[in-house]
Amino acid sequence: MQANNTKHAGIYIHIPFCVKKCSYCDFYSITDQSLKQPFIKALIQEMHMVSGHPFLFDTLYFGGGTPSVLRPENIGRIIENAYGLFNISTDTEITIEVNPGTVTSEQLTEYRNIGINRINIGAQSFNDEVLNFLGRIHSSNDADLTIRGARKAGFDNIGIDLIYGIPGQTKEMWLSDLQMAVEFEPEHLSCYMLTYEKGTPLDRERRQGKFKPVAGSLLAELFETTMEYLTTHGYVQYEISNFAKNASRRSRHNFKYWSFSPYLGFGPSAHSFIEPKRYWNCRSVKKYINNIKEGRLPIEEKEILSKEQRMTEMVYLGLRKTDGIDIDVIDENLGINFSQIFAEKIKQLEEDGYILQIQPKNRCALSRKGMLFLDSIAPMFMTIEY
Ligand code: SF4
Repeated sequence: MQANNTKHAGIYIHIPFCVKKCSYCDFYSITDQSLKQPFIKALIQEMHMVSGHPFLFDTLYFGGGTPSVLRPENIGRIIENAYGLFNISTDTEITIEVNPGTVTSEQLTEYRNIGINRINIGAQSFNDEVLNFLGRIHSSNDADLTIRGARKAGFDNIGIDLIYGIPGQTKEMWLSDLQMAVEFEPEHLSCYMLTYEKGTPLDRERRQGKFKPVAGSLLAELFETTMEYLTTHGYVQYEISNFAKNASRRSRHNFKYWSFSPYLGFGPSAHSFIEPKRYWNCRSVKKYINNIKEGRLPIEEKEILSKEQRMTEMVYLGLRKTDGIDIDVIDENLGINFSQIFAEKIKQLEEDGYILQIQPKNRCALSRKGMLFLDSIAPMFMTIEY
């Protein structure tokens, strides 16, 4: 089994509970914890309803929400059911997202004991003012305790999430966050730029002029600082926002999203993808539980991706990866000759330093400079008619 075989399938499990909603977040979660037990029952039932898939699964990912609000024995029950119902590879990557302030050191040890082998810690920052601005429940000290606790519990595959581009943040403040994260020697780092998602309290405050968002030029500088700092400290960038100590420490699960690999999602709002079909569950926990109680899959909507949509996604997702898009795969999948159709554009973008052609693999990737312009460059490859 190849550690990064992108065509094996993944399982995503959405745990829709959080202690408190963070001001910038638009992931589906609720703070009412009273539905936890009926939710777990429904989730296991949903897995039973779709069991028997022909895929070999090599990732199991608990995301949310805050999966660490569930007791380890409940996570253990879900894992056991997954193993009983699906064809799961022996070297499966089992990840849990954990938020500081929601776990004890005993809990971390139990997660390790039930077979979880990768932990992703939502530290976001080591600056208490920044954490406060984001509406996080934890302090920098909690993040420190959780990361050390995970290492002590025996995790040798730890990821830390950080956010940059927070109003008032300077380059020095961001460098200090990066430096503190690197001192823990995590195997993986995700550095996301703060975005203002429609409908979030943070977006409302921005519209009301309650703070001044970071200027575009500083955002670009922070992004370049991230790449510079992490690559000089032993991390390899493999996706716009993701860095790993080596290829075996990439997020095998998330890599599937960028590589058009199949995955099944369970839980409210979870998406599933089996090319060319995508479908997703309803968001409401109550509706989700009721649907399953009545013997119906909680699917809200399905779509069959058209050729145009497949092209758009393959280009957008592919260009997020540092090894870029696989032109042979696009040609085969869509029945086109990508290199020929876009020969002029590729040549121009390469001359201007935005794109790199990776030969002999027949791949095309963004340069560091190009990564700043993903949203302008990707649409240039979608101007063909089918
Ligand atoms: S803890 Fe995560 S999922 Fe929950 S509200 Fe905050 S950002 Fe969203």
